[in-house]
Amino acid sequence: MTSTRYSRNEALFGEEGQHKIRNTRVAIVGLGGLGSHVAQQLVYLGVANFLLIDDDAATDSSLNRLVGAYDSDVQAGTRKTDSAARLIKLVTPNAHIRTLPVNVEAAEVGPTLKTVDVVFGCFDKDIPRLKLTELCARIAEPYFDLASDTGDDGGPTFGGRVVFSNGSGCMFCLGLVDQEELARESLAPEHRQARDRSYGISTEALEDTGPAVVSVNGAVASLAVTEFMLLVTGLGTPVPVLNYYGEKRLIRRSVDLPAPNCPYCVGLWNRGLD
Ligand SMILES: [Zn+2]
Repeated sequence: MTSTRYSRNEALFGEEGQHKIRNTRVAIVGLGGLGSHVAQQLVYLGVANFLLIDDDAATDSSLNRLVGAYDSDVQAGTRKTDSAARLIKLVTPNAHIRTLPVNVEAAEVGPTLKTVDVVFGCFDKDIPRLKLTELCARIAEPYFDLASDTGDDGGPTFGGRVVFSNGSGCMFCLGLVDQEELARESLAPEHRQARDRSYGISTEALEDTGPAVVSVNGAVASLAVTEFMLLVTGLGTPVPVLNYYGEKRLIRRSVDLPAPNCPYCVGLWNRGLD
């Protein structure tokens, strides 16, 4: 019997496109509110080869947005890589899944990423984003960087953005790194607290207690997975930056051009791992 599972996909990008999706090996680094959505959408799209990287486990406060995790996972302390893997297997039992329950800084991450074709980074901090930008530049792999809640114009904003890096533009040269935040994140916890006090900022207000909403994450993940679909099927070329302005109900591609001589896109591109 001919499978009809992907017939509605193929109506958009053909059997050949579906074949390309099935043969694309994908890494998702960060399986939280954004990455769990990405995993779910990719398996429905037809991706069958996953590398899942995250050192975190399900918590009560993450159950408002952790797709594929359940109440019992909080008690059990289920790893986010395992709840994502379970979700993928329920949809496609013969999917090939590797899990790496480590931080993006771990030495084995770079070499393991060399075994995939496309990388998704789903973090809520700029330091791991830059680390993954660096690794993907060194091994010359296409990288989708997802972020939600990036409102920085002072008002109560929500939304997010997707940055696509492939050697000619990344979050660094497109000016999307928050230098203030980066300086703060790079400090040891005690120094960070002292700095926050001197700035009059409540540390608690900045530590994983900001807004994180399932539907907003889902919108950002959908943008990224659709760009991935365009890339892999050949239906289009991903744009460098897609911004989602939730309050304005707008999705807009950025027209900013990358700064020249980027240390990642030029300096480290295809230079190999240390
Ligand atoms: Zn760059």
